[in-house]
Amino acid sequence: MPNPLIYRVQINQATIELIEGDITKQTTDAIVNAANASLLGGGGVDGAIHRAAGSELLAETRTLGGCQTGDAKITRGYKLKAKFVIHGVGPIYQAHNTLVQQQLASVYRRSMELAEANGIRTISFPSISTGAYGYPVEEAAPIALKAVIDYVIQHNGFERVAFILFNEQITETYAHALAQLAKLYPDIIKVL
Ligand code: ADP
Repeated sequence: MPNPLIYRVQINQATIELIEGDITKQTTDAIVNAANASLLGGGGVDGAIHRAAGSELLAETRTLGGCQTGDAKITRGYKLKAKFVIHGVGPIYQAHNTLVQQQLASVYRRSMELAEANGIRTISFPSISTGAYGYPVEEAAPIALKAVIDYVIQHNGFERVAFILFNEQITETYAHALAQLAKLYPDIIKVL
């Protein structure tokens, strides 16, 4: 069954899509992992990606020496349909903490930078930090969307950026945040 597409907008040459689904099944050039700083696997998205990619993925991430919060590193995708995995390390939530907000925006921006540097034109993101790391989806969604939108406004390399959201509630929260941003910037964000 195809993934239900919930919301789609266009910014310059790129579409940004919200889809309810499983990130391990995506066929974009890259998928982004909600990794932890060790890059040695974990639960949630991380566990699902490592299971689907096979043990060669862990063999490669072991060579990377970890990753700082707010940063990202790239590997091959092995048994995944996606050619690359970008391992982004989001922050553990702390209320009213601007550093944590900046780190969440940074992990999306660094993932986009790494993708562009590797010729990736289509990419799928999960909702980073909103599982085990406790970031409320209502707070994370506008930060995630704005970081990606700011990037595609300034760079021409992307055709498609998808947010693959794990359940209906998360998807609706992202759809609401994207609709708000589209209202604020009607000349830039075209709702399709
Ligand atoms: P973090 O440690 O960054 O919070 P998690 O993996 O615990 O990362 O959760 C991030 C988000 O990903 C949560 O919203 C969770 O529901 C969702 N999620 C878990 N598994 C998948 C999957 N296979 N595909 C897409 N999203 C997933």
